[in-house]
Amino acid sequence: MLRILFVFLLFAGFGGAKAETVMLDPGDQQTIIENLRYLEDPDAQLDITDIRNPDLNWLQHSGSSFNKSFSQSTWWLHLQLNNPQNRTEDRLLEISYAILDYVDIYVFSNHSQISHFTLGDRYPYADRPIDSPFFVVPLHWSRDGRMDVYLRIKSSSAIQVPLTLWQPDTFTTQAAKTNIIQGLYYGAMLVIVVYNLLIFLALWDRSYLYYSGFVLSMPLFFAAISGQGFRYIWPDIPGWNDYALTLFLALTVIFANLFTRLFLDLKKVSPLLNYWTLIVTALAVIGLGLVLFSNYRISILYLVAVSAISAPGSMVAGVVSWRRGAETARFYCVAWALFLLGVSVLVLNKINILPNNQLTQYSVQIGSILEAVLLSFAMAERINVERKLRYQAQDETLTTTRRLNTELETRVQERTDELEQLNKRLRVLSNTDQLTGLYNRRYLEQKMQSEWERCKRYKHSMAMVMMDVDYFKTVNDTYGHPAGDECLRQVTAQILGCVRVQSDHVARYGGEEFCMLLPETDTEGAVVLAERIRTIVASHPIVTQDHVFNVTISLGVFAMIPNNNQHLGYMLQCVDLALYQSKENGRNLVTVFDPDHSNPQKPNDEIKNSHR
Ligand code: GH3
Ligand code: MG
Ligand code: MG
Repeated sequence: MLRILFVFLLFAGFGGAKAETVMLDPGDQQTIIENLRYLEDPDAQLDITDIRNPDLNWLQHSGSSFNKSFSQSTWWLHLQLNNPQNRTEDRLLEISYAILDYVDIYVFSNHSQISHFTLGDRYPYADRPIDSPFFVVPLHWSRDGRMDVYLRIKSSSAIQVPLTLWQPDTFTTQAAKTNIIQGLYYGAMLVIVVYNLLIFLALWDRSYLYYSGFVLSMPLFFAAISGQGFRYIWPDIPGWNDYALTLFLALTVIFANLFTRLFLDLKKVSPLLNYWTLIVTALAVIGLGLVLFSNYRISILYLVAVSAISAPGSMVAGVVSWRRGAETARFYCVAWALFLLGVSVLVLNKINILPNNQLTQYSVQIGSILEAVLLSFAMAERINVERKLRYQAQDETLTTTRRLNTELETRVQERTDELEQLNKRLRVLSNTDQLTGLYNRRYLEQKMQSEWERCKRYKHSMAMVMMDVDYFKTVNDTYGHPAGDECLRQVTAQILGCVRVQSDHVARYGGEEFCMLLPETDTEGAVVLAERIRTIVASHPIVTQDHVFNVTISLGVFAMIPNNNQHLGYMLQCVDLALYQSKENGRNLVTVFDPDHSNPQKPNDEIKNSHR
């Protein structure tokens, strides 16, 4: 009943557009934008019999390809196609919009229906009369033939019906070309996906996984929108196409943002952009929910909006990273710029600013493949940059280690030098008599021993002079102990003043007793020196702060060529005996020990010590 009422309403508006005839033109390709009538059937009440009623209220369409955006209605289109030629003609009628749900095409010739085709991605792919991702039907005209084509369109997608008539041969050639181009595109994207998945497996770096997800989802989205997915991947699942389109668009946005966030290291580069990518990812995940639980129209509108903010956002993130010094962000920016350029070209083409040709038609795919390739390059570059940084760090570590080593060595050397200086001072101190600054007895005896050995070896003569201040006790007693000390210092200076040979060694041997070791010296030489010392001391007064007085010294001299029969002790005893004799003979004397007149080999210890 309702249906009858509705049909009546449609009839009511008389004066609807008359069918205007489209003449077949002999060219390869004929775009139909004029002479097209249409009818909106909001509740899908009409069938083809109703539609054939000549009094229906058709509306005229012209100007551009038929486009009604999102609409719940069923739309009828009517075309009258006449063959003006005096020969039969064949054409293929193509609707180059792949995601229409239901497309029924009824063909009438001379008022009788000759065919009915069911197309649209809600019908099985196998039902199509021509194997094509778009909707294509064959049409045949007899001579001067007239044909009426009725299209019944219903879809949850936008209602777009771009119609083209093709010469069959041209269509086949064109389809083959398109197929090759599409094959190249999907093949290249697949290689990039596999390559990056392998890198992900090798490096376990999540950015490669996200990148693979991105490069996989984007072509699958294009496959869904272009009908290639239904044609090659899911021909047996009619109805899946709507889900595929929105699902892959959502995944593209999700993976692109996850990848961008990780690749550009946004956490470090810009917390704001980091949150931005996370928010867009979350919005796209919500979109996934809409795909599953809402209708196509809502989910596609929502996801197109999310994509529209996502892509420029990624571009901004790239530029910010680049400006903050991330080297690899350069390639990233160029990659996204190329993709956005592709999108822009398509949009400009759709709004008729750019002409329709291969380049504008495939601009998004060209942009996306250039983007994928450049991003792959950017990933490789990132490995390069990381390697460079690692080398740099290694270099720095090495330099630091070297510097520290050098510093350590310098400090060790400084400490060693200090210690050596200290040791030297200690050695000097331990060998020196504090009062006079002369060598002490311990040192002189070491020297005597080595000199004894040396002279024994070379059979050279060595001499010793033993000296003792006369009546020194009296000096102490008379002028005081400090004056005695001063006296010893001045006598030391006088003795040293007489020594001219560097290798001669003077030591303080006891209280007021001095001993001199004269290498390479015989008795005569030693006597000359001893006599000089005695004279100097005797003739120069000792001048202290409070007193001036004279002292004399007694000296004993002995020289010999050391040999195996004797030892150093013998020499010391001899020189001691000589000194003793000087004391005995009245002091202020030099006495040479004469082994022929004494018996120093068996010196009497009492005699030796008695003069001290
Ligand atoms: P002789 O002519 O027999 O050698 O008589 P002497 O008085 O010089 O000999 P003696 O061995 O009897 O006395 C040596 C004195 O020298 C005893 C000691 O107090 C003094 N004496 C020893 N060492 C030092 C010193 O470093 N400084 C001072 N002021 N006196 C010293
Ligand atoms: Mg004395
Ligand atoms: Mg003495």
